[in-house]
Amino acid sequence: FNNKVKTVEPPPGINGEGFFLTKLSEVVGLGRKNSLWPLPFATSCCGIEFMATMASHYDLARFGSERVGFSPRQCDLLMVMGTIAKKMGPVLRQVYLQMAEPRWVIAVGACASSGGIFDSYSVLQGIDQVIPVDVYVPGCPPRPEAILDGFMKVQELVGNESVRRRNSEEYVNLLAEYGIQ
Ligand code: SF4
Repeated sequence: FNNKVKTVEPPPGINGEGFFLTKLSEVVGLGRKNSLWPLPFATSCCGIEFMATMASHYDLARFGSERVGFSPRQCDLLMVMGTIAKKMGPVLRQVYLQMAEPRWVIAVGACASSGGIFDSYSVLQGIDQVIPVDVYVPGCPPRPEAILDGFMKVQELVGNESVRRRNSEEYVNLLAEYGIQ
């Protein structure tokens, strides 16, 4: 038998010597993705599922997002839930523009994503006609698990995004230029 004990040198940084390297964008991304402040723009039934998502069983607070706000200035994640009438479109856009960059958007449910069952003259056929959307959550209504899944997808985007994000206001202006209200 070979009784020699093989010693393995710990990697630098583990035992107090050396240092770790990372990128600024990764540190910023880590902070941002674990402290998203949602603004629930809930107009109908999908909003009820959001309430369940916030409650103790599903507990959105686990992701650092227990602070739900109703002032666009203090939120960075717009969660649109429910049927958005065409007359509500400019209001939604205004709320979005009042949020500071960087900001992200989730369309929760069929109505917010595509108009859902309301293929009607008065209903916006998807909120992406007035604002940019990062993640779409399917369902009528989506269960809290699906909302959490959409939330985690946004976290993934946020965590991997450059510190210098696109200026989404330009996108909104472009939509207006093409007459999309
Ligand atoms: Fe209501 Fe279904 Fe529309 Fe959600 S997707 S707001 S549950 S009709």
